[in-house]
Amino acid sequence: MPPRLTAQIQSIQGVRLAGESSTWDIQLEYSSNKGTVTSVTPHKSEVAESPLALPALTHPHIHLDKAFIHSTPEYAHYLPSTGTFQEALSSTAKVKQQFNHSDILRRGEWLLAESVASGVTAMRAFVEVDHTVQHTCLEAAATLKNQWAESCNIQIVCFAQDPIFSTEFADQNMALLEDALAQYPQIEVIGTTPYVESDTPAAKRNIEWAIDRALVSNKHVDFHLDYNLDSSKEPLVWHVLQTLKDRDWAVRSAKRVMLGHCSRLTLLTDAEWARLAADIHENNLPVSFVGLPTSDIYMAAPPESDQPHNRPRGTLQVLQMIRKHKLDAVIGVNNVGNAFTPWGLPDPLSLACLGVGIYQAGSQTDAELLYECVSTRARAAIGLESQVGLGIAQGCGADLLLVQHRDDTGCEVSRLRTNVAEVVWTPPEKMNRDVVCGGRLKVSPYGTDGEDSVYRYS
Ligand SMILES: [Zn+2]
Repeated sequence: MPPRLTAQIQSIQGVRLAGESSTWDIQLEYSSNKGTVTSVTPHKSEVAESPLALPALTHPHIHLDKAFIHSTPEYAHYLPSTGTFQEALSSTAKVKQQFNHSDILRRGEWLLAESVASGVTAMRAFVEVDHTVQHTCLEAAATLKNQWAESCNIQIVCFAQDPIFSTEFADQNMALLEDALAQYPQIEVIGTTPYVESDTPAAKRNIEWAIDRALVSNKHVDFHLDYNLDSSKEPLVWHVLQTLKDRDWAVRSAKRVMLGHCSRLTLLTDAEWARLAADIHENNLPVSFVGLPTSDIYMAAPPESDQPHNRPRGTLQVLQMIRKHKLDAVIGVNNVGNAFTPWGLPDPLSLACLGVGIYQAGSQTDAELLYECVSTRARAAIGLESQVGLGIAQGCGADLLLVQHRDDTGCEVSRLRTNVAEVVWTPPEKMNRDVVCGGRLKVSPYGTDGEDSVYRYS
């Protein structure tokens, strides 16, 4: 069930902030039921071991209905044996035949509970709609969205994982999507997977349909795109951009466009990247990219070669895209506990930590940018209001992560994390993450409430 939250916090006393050496008090106000920061003022006296207050975390791309299939005994005979992409697609298709409302609620709650306890207060959640699951996943997601609204903003993606313009089920899949869009006002995003169509013309029709449908229904659009490392395959990103321009998206819609995976784009030259960025910027296209490194390095391998020990991986170089090409790019967890990604946690901080290694990003500034990619930048990329950077200032929302320094070893030892880089390099345990959801503190299962004089209530 959703976590218990305290009463509304009026002020948070004596905390460190990103990039600041002294300590501060944060005042909150409630004109809506989600609070806002009204002022941040210097704390009276220095506190030696004050917590670090940062913006809360965000999942910009996560599959709610497919989470933790591997943790479910009923699905034990579908555990991976070869680990290939084809096996993941076919075994997950079989598991989906057994999905039911209570099963999705249970696995979805595992995902939500672990995510919120990690510091996540907003997520873009994909749920599949097709001839196999029909509206079962969507119905469960709508229930969870409602139940968890106080602690986490769940933005629902009506997601076509299956083909809608090829194969024998195309028409049925399409009809179910249309029905879903008509029946569920909770849907905020239309998502599709052009690469599952049987040929390129069908993939292009898939892209055009999703863009057109998102325009007329005033929703965001989100593609799983160019998920390969095959230089002989045409990157479809160009078709997405061309369609957005043809349809005048920048003028007709205030919604955003997200492109996920895109590992094929790692084979582009720098000149091609510059052309891609120029196309986006010159046409004011609200396009973001989401790198999904835990899935990409597990699944996206180049075609087999005669060098079996040479197995390069490819995942979007998000930091380079941001810095060199001024693109909007973030990172997301994508899948947990299923055949597409059997490893990893729904913890954005462990993902940011992985980014240090993957992007060879060892400086403090790199770590801060990685944190933004799973926090403020991720919120903005999915179309939510967000501050820029990691400072807490007047006007910021009251979704916060406070990094504490409680002894989690049992050895009466606790290591202070005083800046963002230390949080990214060595992510703290959950008991050292205080999560403030819309101005209310998530009550800790570790019995630590009240021991801190940090939070003041009215
Ligand atoms: Zn995905």
